[in-house]
Amino acid sequence: KVVCVTGAGGFIASWIVKLLLQRGHTVRGTLRDPADPKKTEHLYALDGSAERLHLFKADLLEEGSFDAIVDGCECVFHTASPFHNNTKDPEVELIKPAVEGTLNVLASCKKASSVKRVILTSSMAAVVFTENPLSPGVVVDEKFFSVKELCEKAKEWYVLSKTLAEQAAWKFSEDNGIDLVTINPAMVLGPLLQPTLNTSAGLIKYLISGSPVYLNFSVGWVNVKDVALAHVLACEVPSASGRYCMADRVLHFSEVVKIIHEMYPSLPVPEKCADDKPFAPTYQVSRDKIKSLGIELTPFETTLRETIESLKEKGFVS
Ligand code: NDP
Repeated sequence: KVVCVTGAGGFIASWIVKLLLQRGHTVRGTLRDPADPKKTEHLYALDGSAERLHLFKADLLEEGSFDAIVDGCECVFHTASPFHNNTKDPEVELIKPAVEGTLNVLASCKKASSVKRVILTSSMAAVVFTENPLSPGVVVDEKFFSVKELCEKAKEWYVLSKTLAEQAAWKFSEDNGIDLVTINPAMVLGPLLQPTLNTSAGLIKYLISGSPVYLNFSVGWVNVKDVALAHVLACEVPSASGRYCMADRVLHFSEVVKIIHEMYPSLPVPEKCADDKPFAPTYQVSRDKIKSLGIELTPFETTLRETIESLKEKGFVS
């Protein structure tokens, strides 16, 4: 198949591109700056790239920017979206590129008769922030949808950006007859292909770099290779549909720190929580839907080890 991956140089997208090339597909990747070697060199190093990888410049906020690139593609993987939390202006830095970018890509897909399916990289962030209180007995599944007002109240701007983007994507797809599938991963870890540090791997770097405290936060974790495979299968398997939640396990940061300490006793992990409130509760994430795609999730310990080894190899930690 000929396919398009937006934001091709990012952490998750690079693994999607790698897998697509491995499986014989032809990939059109988009980047904001295809002349930046930090975003492209690792892609050009992938097997099959010389023959089947083509990189293009495209901007999420520029109308029509994706028109010519998606025209001729059967599947479009829309992964590009800002993922960071330190924003001065969340509307401009997070929400606009997430929501308008998604609608812009979908509008280009609508114009291209070749496009049979769009796979959107959403997030568990667009799933778990609901009125239902979370606890270890609660099983979160694809029916949950994060609530805009709760995200706004908590000033969770990244969560809001993913929630609004996914909501907008479903509405646009229903209104315009687009076959949309969303992959909703929890916090993604695993080996880095790109030379720069992405936000989720940065969380582990923070925990092993002598930081004094860990956050009072519980989150699900998932391997980047599983996430890439889910994207690719969502394109290859005709019956794939709807949303796919992906989390191996939900762990509080105190538990992550404990596991790191057991695996790497010499690494300096924080001993204290950032506050003295009760620990944020964990919960479960249903695997039924993702299993139906034929995916067995990698255990957290394996994923964590791969992340730490990769951070060391790339020189992000000593
Ligand atoms: P990266 O930061 O590595 O990649 C983000 C990509 O988005 C980059 O390739 C970048 O493209 C593009 N991008 C960011 N901001 C903009 C912008 N303002 N305009 C245009 N493009 C932009 O992050 P990840 O690989 O982690 O994230 C990829 C996707 O996965 C995102 O949609 C994210 O929300 C989602 N996700 C990530 C999770 C994680 O834990 N990592 C968990 C769940 C979902 P460019 O090369 O042009 O800079």
